[in-house]
Amino acid sequence: MPLVPKTRNNVKLYNSDTLTMLKELNNNSVDLKPNLYRFFRFTCNDKYSQKSIDKFISKIDTTPGLGPKGDCWERNKRIRRGYGRFRYNNKIYSSHKVAWELSHNKLVPCNKLICHTCDNRKCCNPMHLFLGTNQDNMTDMVNKKRQNKLKNENNGMAKLTWIQVKEIRNLYTTGKYTMKQLANKFGVTQSCIGNIIRNKLWYDPNYIRTKLDNIGNTQIDENTKNKIYILYIQNKYGYGKLAKQFNISPSRIRDIVKNN
Ligand SMILES: [Zn+2]
Repeated sequence: MPLVPKTRNNVKLYNSDTLTMLKELNNNSVDLKPNLYRFFRFTCNDKYSQKSIDKFISKIDTTPGLGPKGDCWERNKRIRRGYGRFRYNNKIYSSHKVAWELSHNKLVPCNKLICHTCDNRKCCNPMHLFLGTNQDNMTDMVNKKRQNKLKNENNGMAKLTWIQVKEIRNLYTTGKYTMKQLANKFGVTQSCIGNIIRNKLWYDPNYIRTKLDNIGNTQIDENTKNKIYILYIQNKYGYGKLAKQFNISPSRIRDIVKNN
């Protein structure tokens, strides 16, 4: 029973026999290295030379026990943001992406990215990699609860509580506060407030961001727009002050000023 994938162009390269065999190899602590050529031996669109494939494989660590299930193949070279990187021809590529391209014999489409089922960014095991969109990756991340690991109130570093986070979101929705004002009020940075409002920090699956433009006062006549614009360019008022004066949201003020 050969380890060689049956078809090269099909996305599903590995049948269950291959997987079983690989698992046995892993369990028996057999040196997987020579077998790696069966997974990464293709050249796609002349992007990879045999030499580059040799180089790529030489630094893959197949020691059993790596990763959450112990069957990850890690490449620990040039780690950046947790991902291994691979350099050849004076260019730097993400290792897991190279691993996917070599094992599937095609290039990653430009609007897609390669995600890990094992959640181990260094992993290059083709069976742990799948083609996804950014949205898939985010959903995957949320499902794995990785996102909240460092960011919720149980973490000692957190300055806020869920109650405050809800308050921040509610206050911002009223349009009476700028992010800067909220940052001062709650003693956190402005980018922190921004991320809370965009639901990137303190992720809440039920939170729907209400665009400030949708809250009343959307009808502003040209005269008022001009007035706002003139006051703004005279440098006397900022977005926040103008927002208060005209009773509309600061972001609406910004849109008026930028579009005038
Ligand atoms: Zn893995």
